[in-house]
Amino acid sequence: MKSVRYRAAPVRWGNVARCRCEQTWMCRVRLLLLCFCLLLAMTLTLALSLSNHHTVYHDLPPRPPDLFKDKLTHQPGNPTVAHLKRLVSLVSWERLWYAHLRPFLTERQPGTRGNRAVRNHIFSRLDSLAAGWSVDVDSFISETPRGPISFSNILAVLDPTAPRRLLLACHYDSKFIPADPSEPHKVFIGASDSAVPCAMMLELVTALDLHLKKHKQLMPRVTLQLAFFDGGEAFEQWSQTDSLYGSRHLAEYMSSIPHPVGAEQTTLIDAVDLLVLLDLIGAPDPMFVNHFENTARWFDRLIAAEKRLHDMGQLSSHPKEQSYFVKDLNMGPVEDDHLPFLQKGVPVLHMIATPFPSFLHTLEDTADKIHRHTVENLTKVLVVFLAEYLRL
Ligand SMILES: [Zn+2]
Repeated sequence: MKSVRYRAAPVRWGNVARCRCEQTWMCRVRLLLLCFCLLLAMTLTLALSLSNHHTVYHDLPPRPPDLFKDKLTHQPGNPTVAHLKRLVSLVSWERLWYAHLRPFLTERQPGTRGNRAVRNHIFSRLDSLAAGWSVDVDSFISETPRGPISFSNILAVLDPTAPRRLLLACHYDSKFIPADPSEPHKVFIGASDSAVPCAMMLELVTALDLHLKKHKQLMPRVTLQLAFFDGGEAFEQWSQTDSLYGSRHLAEYMSSIPHPVGAEQTTLIDAVDLLVLLDLIGAPDPMFVNHFENTARWFDRLIAAEKRLHDMGQLSSHPKEQSYFVKDLNMGPVEDDHLPFLQKGVPVLHMIATPFPSFLHTLEDTADKIHRHTVENLTKVLVVFLAEYLRL
C-alpha cells in the first residue's frame, strides 16, 4: 500500500511542475464542475420541493362534499384590478353581435325549424371552444294548448364530475305572436326575450374560454353549467301548465339523477350552488333588483362589480357609478324559468330588467332596440361575477 502511494505522489507533483498552464486549466474545469454540481443540486431541491407541494395538494384526502353547507359558505375570490382589466378586455361586442346574436334573430318557437336551427347554432358555438364542454340535450314531448309539442333543453357543463355547479341560464325559444296583417312579413323575434341573454352567455364562455379551460384542469369543487331552456314562453295564456315547459322538465330531470355518482340522498339539483337566470336584457337603462333574501350577498357582488368597473373606466355610456343594480327595492316577484328550481330549494339570482322593456311581447322587440353599450357593460359585469365566483 505504502509503495503505491509513494510512487503515485511524484507523478502528481511532477505534473504540476511540468506545466502551470495545465494546472490553471484543471482548476477552471474543477470550478466549473463544482458550479455545475451546485446548480444541479439547487435545481433538484427546487423541483423536489415543488413536487412535494403538488403532491400534498393532490394527496389531501378529499373532504366529502356537503352540497347544502358548501353552497352557503362559498367564498368568492378577489381578483386584482389588473386581472379584471385583462378579463373584461376579452369581451368582444362584434363577436357577441355577429357570431352569437345574429342567428337567434329569427322565429324559434318550440318544435319549429327555426328552433332547431338556433339549437344547432348553440351546439356549434359551444363545440368551437377549447375548454371542452360536455353538452347534452334534454328532449321531451309535452301536451300544450296546441297539442303535443317536442321541446329540447340544451345543457352544457364544464366538468360533470365536479361536486357543485354555478348554473347560468336563459330561454332560447321565442313566443308565438301573431303577425300584424298590415305588415305580414314582420315576425316576433324576441331580441331581448331572450336572444340577447343567450348571446351574452355564449360570449361569456367564449371570452373566458382559456381561463375556463385552466379552471377545469384544476378540478375545482365548483364548475360552471349552462342551461338554454326551450318552451319558456306560454303558447296562449300564461298558466302553471302553459309556460316554463323546459325549465320544469329540467328541474325534474336534475332532481332524479343521483349526485355525486352513487349518492343516495342528493341529486344534481342539490349540486346547484346558485341559478343565475338572465332575461329581458338589451333595452337601454335597465334596472335590476334582488328578488330573494337568501341570495342578497350575490346580488351585492353584482352591485360591487358595476361600481368597480365604472371606477376602472371599463364601462361605456355609464355616467353614474351605480346605474343598473339597485339594492333594497322591491319590484314584486316575476314568474320565470327559475320557478321550478326555486321550488326545489335552489338559490336564485334573477337578472331580469324591471320594469319590463316597453316593447315586451310585441313585434317591436327587434335588434334595432338593443343598446350596444348596455349589453356590453352587463356582459363585463358578469365576467367579474364569474371570475369572482369561480376564482378564474
Ligand atoms: Zn317572453
